Amino acid sequence: MNVLAAVLSIILVLIGVAVTVLLYQRRQKYDRFLLQHSLCLKTLREINARYRFFPCVSFDQQHTYDNEYFFNNISCEDYLIYQLQFIKKDVSSQIEKIRTNRQLYANYTEERNKISQFGQFQTAPDKLNEQVLLKREQHLLKKQTLAPAMQFNIAVTLYCSKINGYVYRRKRARFTDAEILAYISRLEQKNGNFYTDRKIWNSICRVERGKVSNKMRFSIFARDGYRCRICGASGKFARLEIDHIIPIAKGGRSTYNNLQTLCHSCNTKKGSKIL
Ligand SMILES: [Zn+2]
Repeated sequence: MNVLAAVLSIILVLIGVAVTVLLYQRRQKYDRFLLQHSLCLKTLREINARYRFFPCVSFDQQHTYDNEYFFNNISCEDYLIYQLQFIKKDVSSQIEKIRTNRQLYANYTEERNKISQFGQFQTAPDKLNEQVLLKREQHLLKKQTLAPAMQFNIAVTLYCSKINGYVYRRKRARFTDAEILAYISRLEQKNGNFYTDRKIWNSICRVERGKVSNKMRFSIFARDGYRCRICGASGKFARLEIDHIIPIAKGGRSTYNNLQTLCHSCNTKKGSKIL
C-alpha cells in the first residue's frame, strides 16, 4: 500500500513538472512572436529609446559605536548632519537628478499612455490563441515600461557594539530629500570654520566627540604611557581621561594628534582652554 502511494505521488510530481514546462514553453512562443511583431511593443521601444533617466545612487550612512554612551547620545539626525559637511555637493546634485527624472517621467507617461495599437501585428499570428496573445502583450508592455528612480532619501543606521565588534543594538532613520536640503541650507550658514546655526553646530560637536572610540582611547593611553601629559600622574588614582588639545568647541577634531592623556584634575583645570 505504501509503495503504491509513493509511486502515485511520484507520478503526480512528474505530471506537475511536465505541465509547468509546457506552460513555460507556450509562454515563450507567444512572447517571441509579440516581441517581433507587436506594433504597440515596437512603439514602446521607440519611446523608451528617446528617454534617458538618471540612475539611483545611494548615500546611505552607517557607523558603529563601541561606546554605549555615544551611541545613546548621538542621533541618526546628528550623524547625517555631520556627514553632509563632506557629501553635500554630491547629494544636492543627486537630488537635482531625481527631480529631473520626475519631470521627464511625467512626459514619458503621457507618451506611453497614448499607445493604442493593442493586438495589432506586423504578420498574422497563425495558430496562436488571441486571448492569450492579448494577455501576454499587456504583460510585456508593463514589463518593458521604464521605472526610473523617483524618490531620494538617505537611511542612517547606527550600531552599538562591544569593543570586540559584537553588535548588540541598532537604530535607523530615513530622511527625505526635502529634509536633507533643509540641513544643507543650514550648513551653508558659516562663519569661517564655524556653523552659526546652533542646532547644526551642536550636532556636529556631538558626532565629533563620539569619534573617540574606546579602541582609540586605549591606544592614546598606551601612546602616552598611561600618564597625564601635564603633571605625569599615573596609576589607579590618577583617573586618566582623554582631552582634545584644541577643544571641539573651538574647531578641534578627534584625531590622534589632537588627543592627549590627562588626569581628571588637570583636565578639569584646563577646561576648554588651549594651552
Ligand atoms: Zn595631571
